[in-house]
Amino acid sequence: MSKPEPKPWIAQIHAYVPGKSKSASGKPLVKLSANENPLGSSPAALAALAEGHVAADYPDPDARMLREAIAQIHGLDPALIVCGTGSGELLHCAVQALAGPGDEVLASRYSFSLYPLLAQKVGASPVFAEPEGYGASVDNLLAAVTARTRVVLLDNPNNPVGTFLPPSEVARLHAGLPSDVLLVIDEAYAEYVDPAFQTLAFQMAKTHDNVLVSRTFSKAYGLASERVGWVTGSAHLVDLVNRLRGAFNVSVSGQKAALAALGDQSFVAASREHNTRERARLAEAIAALGNHGISASPSEANFLLVHFEGAVSAAQALEALSDAGYAVRHLPSQGLPNALRITIGTAQATTDVIATLRRLCGEAA
Ligand SMILES: *Cc1c(COP(=O)(O)O)cnc(C)c1O
Repeated sequence: MSKPEPKPWIAQIHAYVPGKSKSASGKPLVKLSANENPLGSSPAALAALAEGHVAADYPDPDARMLREAIAQIHGLDPALIVCGTGSGELLHCAVQALAGPGDEVLASRYSFSLYPLLAQKVGASPVFAEPEGYGASVDNLLAAVTARTRVVLLDNPNNPVGTFLPPSEVARLHAGLPSDVLLVIDEAYAEYVDPAFQTLAFQMAKTHDNVLVSRTFSKAYGLASERVGWVTGSAHLVDLVNRLRGAFNVSVSGQKAALAALGDQSFVAASREHNTRERARLAEAIAALGNHGISASPSEANFLLVHFEGAVSAAQALEALSDAGYAVRHLPSQGLPNALRITIGTAQATTDVIATLRRLCGEAA
C-alpha cells in the first residue's frame, strides 16, 4: 500500500540531535552539553514568569514592547527587529525566503549543527568551506561562493569550536560577497565576547541590504526554555522574515521574561564574568595536559572544544565524565570524533571536569 511520501530533500533529513542529559544507563547527569547558563536566569525574569498571565489569550503577535526594549538597549530601530520562537525559527525563515532546490547555503565546516538542516528543509544544498584550525576561514568561505550561493551562515562566536572572527574579518567576508548573497551573522554567544566587539554586526546590518544579525535569550540571558530570539536587518529582510515567521510565535511568558531579563543587565554581566573566569580555569588545566595530547580550541563562547589526540580518547573522556555525573557533547556526526564540546558550568563543575581529565591522564587530581 502506498503511504504519503516526503519530498526527496525531506527524506534525507536527520532530525536535530539535542545535547544529552542522561548517561547510557539512564542516570540523570548535570548537562554541560547544551551551552545553557549555569547561573540559571535573572531573578527579574523569574519574577516576571511568576506573575502569571491570562493563558486563554493570544500573545502580542508583534512583541512590540520587547522589540522596543531591544532597540533601546542596542541603539536599533524597533521596526527593523523581528522576534521569534528562539533565533532558530528566524534563521529558518531567512534561509526559506532566499534558497530552494538548486541553491547553495554556505557555512564553515564546523559550525552550528542546525545549519545544514536549514538548507535541506528547503531543498537547497548545504556547502561547507574548509576551516582554518577549526574556526571559520574568510578566504575559504569566499572561495566556496558560487553562482548558486544564496545564503552564508556565520556563527560568531562559532559553535561548536568557540572561535571568534574579529570585526575586521567579518567585514572582509561581507565585502567579498556578491550583494545578492545574504550574510547571516548568528550572534548567539555575543554577550560572552568583550563588549568592545559586540556592535560591529549591528552596524553592518544598518548599512547593508544583505546582512541579517541574530541574537537569542537562550544563552547568556538564561532563558532557553522560553524560546525567544530576534533578528535585525534592512527593511527588505525584515519584511521577508515577517512573512514567514509564525503568527503568534513568542508566548506571553516568553515576551515577559525576555523583557524583564533585558532590564537586568547586571545578570548578563555576571554571567559573562563567571564564564570568562571558569573558561580560563578550564583552559589552563587543559593546556597543562598538552603532553597527553589534550588541547582546547581558543574560545570566546561559553564552552570549550577539547581535542583528544593522545592515549586518552574522546570516547573514554565522555564515559569518565558521565561516571562523574556530567553530560558533555561528543560530535562524531559533525566530523569531530576526537573532540568533546564542554559547556562552562558552575565552579564545582569546572573543578570536577578538571579532576576527571587529570585522573584519566594518570595525573594527581
Ligand atoms: C544555541 C544557539 C542558538 C540559539 O538558538 P535558539 O533557537 O535561539 O535557542 C543559535 N545559534 C547558535 C550557533 C547556537 O549555538
